[in-house]
Amino acid sequence: MSLQDIETRVAKACSEAGRDRGDVKLIAVSKVQPAERVQAVLDEGHRLYGENRVQEAQDRWTPFKEQYDGVSVHLIGPLQSNKARVAMEFFDAIHSVDRPKLANTIARLADEIGRCPDLFLQVNTGEEDQKAGVMPSEADGFIAECRALDLPVKGLMCIPPVDETPSLHFALLAKIATRNGLTGLSMGMSSDFEQAIALGATHIRVGSAIFGERDYG
Ligand SMILES: *Cc1c(COP(=O)(O)O)cnc(C)c1O
Repeated sequence: MSLQDIETRVAKACSEAGRDRGDVKLIAVSKVQPAERVQAVLDEGHRLYGENRVQEAQDRWTPFKEQYDGVSVHLIGPLQSNKARVAMEFFDAIHSVDRPKLANTIARLADEIGRCPDLFLQVNTGEEDQKAGVMPSEADGFIAECRALDLPVKGLMCIPPVDETPSLHFALLAKIATRNGLTGLSMGMSSDFEQAIALGATHIRVGSAIFGERDYG
C-alpha cells in the first residue's frame, strides 16, 4: 500500500457513502515508523499526522515542522496529566481525552496558556478493562462535564476491540455523538477505515496501510 492507494480507497468509500471527500480527514499515523518513510509521505504532500507519544512526537516533528509548511500533528495515544501542558502546546488536536481528571487539567491549562487544541473524547465502546475511555453509559455525562468546562469538544473517538466487528462500535459511537449534537468522529484504522467512513467517520487514523508494518523491535 501507499499514500496514493489509501487516498483512492478513501475517495471511493466517501463516494459510496454519499459523502464529500473533504468531510473526512486522513490522519497518517507515523508512530514508530522510520524517518525515511515519514519523509517520503511528507514529500508526497501529506500534512496531517498522528502520534501516540508526546515525547516521540516532539522529537520527530519539531525538525520536520521547520522543513515542511502546514504540518499538523494530532495526539491519538493516552495522555498523562503531567504531560498535558506540553501536549497542549504541541498538538493541534488531542483524540484521547478519556477521563474527568484529565479534562479538568486541560481546562485549567487552557486558561493559563490561552489556547486549547481541538478535543475528542475517547469512549471505550467495547468496555474493555485494558482500554482507555469512558464507558458508553458514562459518555453523555462526560460530554456534558467537558462542555461545562468550556472545552472545545469536536467529537468522539473509539478503538474497537480487535476481535469484534468494528462496525458495531462505529455505529455506537456515531449514535452517542448524534444524540449529543457532536459531529466529529475519530474512528477507523488500516483494517477498517472504509467501514468507519460508511458510518460517519470525520477523522480516520491510518498507520500501517500507508507506511508499512511497524517494527517495535
Ligand atoms: C497505532 C494507532 C492507529 C493506526 O493503526 P494502524 O492499524 O496501523 O492503521 C490508529 N489509532 C490509534 C489510537 C493507534 O494507536
